[in-house]
Amino acid sequence: MEHQEVHGAPDASSKVLPSFTFLREVEERSGQPVSRCYQCTKCTGGCPMNFAMDIQPSQIVRFIQLGLKEPLLKSRSIWICACCKTCKSRCPNGIDIGRLNDTLKEMAVEMEVPAAEKNVPIFHQVFLGSVEKNGRVHELGMMLGYKMKTGTYMQDAPLGLAMFRKGILKVMPEGIHQKREIQRIFQKAKENGR
Ligand code: SF4
Ligand code: SF4
Repeated sequence: MEHQEVHGAPDASSKVLPSFTFLREVEERSGQPVSRCYQCTKCTGGCPMNFAMDIQPSQIVRFIQLGLKEPLLKSRSIWICACCKTCKSRCPNGIDIGRLNDTLKEMAVEMEVPAAEKNVPIFHQVFLGSVEKNGRVHELGMMLGYKMKTGTYMQDAPLGLAMFRKGILKVMPEGIHQKREIQRIFQKAKENGR
């Protein structure tokens, strides 16, 4: 994977000049009309994860318009977003900030920017690994993989035990009919560098 420099964000005393290159790249990769945003903040008002974000949803869009790449790729917000699409349903311009955050996460990984929420990419990896292997997620296997990779063995242990006792967590993965189709999707994504 090619390593690229992340250019520094301007400090408070410098002028912020729009970088249309970054704006165009994000619009093209995400398919979202970022340029149409006029900062009504309806997205931020409805976002269920806003309380934990360091850059609010409407600010994410504004930062993209201004070309502020570094603070976005280093932010917690892009990893915390739940991709619930509440922002999209509220936006008068139909902008899906969850999709923007997916694009920014892809860029952060490509540029080897360490994730501000380091356990979230690990969760993504084990979740997708489970789907690729089994055709659908095997919750128990995924949870054990996540715990081993993050060292969070006892976190949520009582909840996991209760779910296991109620039969919600299956010991063996359940098969699906189109497993090969799912694996072909993963193969295609890898061929496209995703
Ligand atoms: S709701 Fe849409 S137009 Fe309003 S601030 Fe959010 S992204 Fe921009
Ligand atoms: S998709 Fe992300 S940014 Fe949009 S409302 Fe949901 S959590 Fe917030």
